[in-house]
Amino acid sequence: MQVEVITLFPDMVEQGLSAGVPRIAREKRALQLSVRNPRDYADNPHRAVDDRPFGGGPGMVMQAPPVVASIEAARAALPQARVIAMSPQGTPLTQAWLQHLADVPELILLCGRYEGWDERIMPYIDVEISLGDFVLSGGELAAMALIDGVARLLPDVLGHKDSAKEDSFVEDLLDCPHYTRPASWRGVSVPELLLSGDHARIRQWRLQQALGATWLKRPDLLGRLTLCDEWEALLADFIEQQQSVRKVQA
Ligand code: SAH
Repeated sequence: MQVEVITLFPDMVEQGLSAGVPRIAREKRALQLSVRNPRDYADNPHRAVDDRPFGGGPGMVMQAPPVVASIEAARAALPQARVIAMSPQGTPLTQAWLQHLADVPELILLCGRYEGWDERIMPYIDVEISLGDFVLSGGELAAMALIDGVARLLPDVLGHKDSAKEDSFVEDLLDCPHYTRPASWRGVSVPELLLSGDHARIRQWRLQQALGATWLKRPDLLGRLTLCDEWEALLADFIEQQQSVRKVQA
């Protein structure tokens, strides 16, 4: 997959995606990243790309000509790419979005700064995506979050091919709890079953814990699901266990 990031801070994006899974994805050529700086398209000696807002008010606004010239250059390099603008006004980024984007061959991500960009760039954007209902000072962290989330879904990037399949949100459920050595630590042992080698029961326990974690922490996600009889029974059992633990504690 080829990704171009249009940013006033190319080093930040380059460096931020030079570690961990994105680095592996780049080394394996599953992800080819390039950065483009709108300053290279500014037509003034100071390479300024922002100016004061018409109508007054605080802050600066990214100007349409250098931003659109960068988008057009990126589009010439990646003709199949959709242009995604990172924006708090966009549709929220979800695992479903990442899965969709992991299947496209080319992407262009636009990062804003200051108060954002001149509204006249909007016809050159295909979709706006937000990291959440809060305001960052720039789109770079949002673009890096999106690329990181996509990189780990690209074929052959993660060590184990099923690693990404059991994560939170993949089935609209949160992930189950994980444990590793030591088996007993500060008087707390890992659940006995996990040491049993009984893979069928371990799988069932993990599913039940995932259902339970979702019920406890994100009931809104469960509300969206229609549970089959098996899942319904596992969750009912989890809830009963929780209630008896609470009774013992009370
Ligand atoms: N005035 C704008 C915010 C500008 S913040 C507004 O209120 O809508 C500057 C830049 O940071 C934005 O152009 C965008 O690229 C980025 N940004 C800020 N918050 C973001 C978020 N939640 N998700 C994605 N990008 C964000």
